[in-house]
Amino acid sequence: MGRLGTETAFEVLARARALEAQGRHIVHLEIGEPDFDTPKSITAAGVAAIERGETHYTPSAGILELREAIARYLKRTRSLDYDASQIIVAPGAKPIMFYAILALCEAGDEAIYPDPGFPIYASMINFAGATPVPLPLREENDYVPDLAELRRLVTPKTKLLILNSPHNPTGGALSADAVRDIARIARDHDIWVLSDEIYADLLYDGTHHSIGREDGMPERTIVLDGFSKTFAMTGWRLGYGAFPKPLVDPVTKLVTNSVSCTATFTQRAGIVAMDQRPPEVSEMVTQFRKRRDAIVAGLNGIDGITCRTPQGAFYVFPNITGTGLTSAQFQERLLNQAGVAALAGTAFGRYGEGFLRFSYANSVENIQAALEAIRASLA
Ligand code: PMP
Repeated sequence: MGRLGTETAFEVLARARALEAQGRHIVHLEIGEPDFDTPKSITAAGVAAIERGETHYTPSAGILELREAIARYLKRTRSLDYDASQIIVAPGAKPIMFYAILALCEAGDEAIYPDPGFPIYASMINFAGATPVPLPLREENDYVPDLAELRRLVTPKTKLLILNSPHNPTGGALSADAVRDIARIARDHDIWVLSDEIYADLLYDGTHHSIGREDGMPERTIVLDGFSKTFAMTGWRLGYGAFPKPLVDPVTKLVTNSVSCTATFTQRAGIVAMDQRPPEVSEMVTQFRKRRDAIVAGLNGIDGITCRTPQGAFYVFPNITGTGLTSAQFQERLLNQAGVAALAGTAFGRYGEGFLRFSYANSVENIQAALEAIRASLA
């Protein structure tokens, strides 16, 4: 258990809620979840399924109609060729991460992951007994990996490479060229790739490129995605992985051993999300773009802070070194003095020092109030 890490966002959220319980006003820019309601047509499908009595177990890998709808969605939106039999449904995308890493990594293996990056990657690699190898993502490269550096990190022990585009916490995204070059490295060195594409539909500039489309990659790539972000469904708990064939049975066994299956009515709601892509989704993307532009402009107007314009997801990762504070000091000052909950860049790895992560999945009004409070806390 000592090898298991955590996700600081949930800890800061709990502390912010405790302050609110004492009467403090807090603007929540720490947790990565859309503030929008789940689109009505999706909710209605879930409710109807409950009322029809779809409240029993399903096969561990998910109901066939949903797996087929996901395969169609991946084909339509990302030109990915996975058969429905290769799709495994889980209660969220996070369990897919857990299963994929458990299935692939053990003591003696190395797994390369983005730093800064989603903290569960390193936590799970460690938990599986393997060695996590951070791949630094630098501000000066717009938070995309340096390919020469990636090549240097690969050793004969490298088993797995984790990618995440668009990226949490920086909002960076991989170009078509970068994806092609990374695929070449994975093929040359016979490495599995876990491609976390949970923000693929939240891209404001350019198009999303899945590495699972590259030559020779479908047989070594797990595409991870879910419904939490695109469809504002965090609490429904619904995600999936598209797996190379040899991994389907082992990972299905992990599902049977852990959760048996995902809630039936949640899966029914997911079919509507995949097949209909309700119009609310495009409206959310439009709103996120406006919020991105507001928070980037606001942060760049504060002395000591500079912020690049992220391409996707709903996070900004400003450089705060000009304030003279460490990331941890700034996080504390914001929570305690400014009433703004945000995360130190170091919550995402050691290369996050000197940065903060703000989630802009909040109203422009709240974002403006937070910006004012941040400015005042530095005065
Ligand atoms: N991957 C990334 C990069 C994320 O940011 C998140 C959620 N914060 C997830 C996966 C997991 O999402 P969920 O389990 O809600 O599907």
